[in-house]
Amino acid sequence: MSHVQTTSSLVAHARSIANLKFQNNSGSPNADKVCAVALDLSNLNNHYALFSGGPGFQELTSIVSNGSSPGAAKVTITSRLEAFLRSKAGGGFSDDQIKHKGYDPHGRGAMNCAEPKMYYLLRYQLNQSLRNWVLIPFNQNQSQILYNPPCKNCRRWVYQHFHYLSAWVARNQAGMSALVK
Ligand SMILES: [Zn+2]
Repeated sequence: MSHVQTTSSLVAHARSIANLKFQNNSGSPNADKVCAVALDLSNLNNHYALFSGGPGFQELTSIVSNGSSPGAAKVTITSRLEAFLRSKAGGGFSDDQIKHKGYDPHGRGAMNCAEPKMYYLLRYQLNQSLRNWVLIPFNQNQSQILYNPPCKNCRRWVYQHFHYLSAWVARNQAGMSALVK
């Protein structure tokens, strides 16, 4: 299969996962809300999906705390993700860029996106090698589930960590500009 065929079948699979997650979500539709889907390329039945922002942080906290009090999980998630995003491999963000406003015109901090939450889930919680996972983010516009490439904050680090098809998907779905930092 060509890369284009491979990426379009991966996107279709990921879109059905995102669609189900948006359908089951009780919150109101919001064009800013991203659902990042990660697919295990060695077994496509193995996948995760997390929302951006506060809802995604709650989802991740609930997985990490696993029935215990969420306070300690919140502290661990925040400190590990901040340390990662500050590091060169994590994009080299300042504390202010992490919490308030990074490089993207959406004006939110680098922590806010769904992508760092997925990074945490796979790397720290599930002890996975990120290179085996392709990352495919979506958002919802009315009833449509649209591919939503990593923002300019996330582009500083995601393609170096997730499977290289993540960048191919971005390019095929959203054009070369989706790779520009
Ligand atoms: Zn982002």
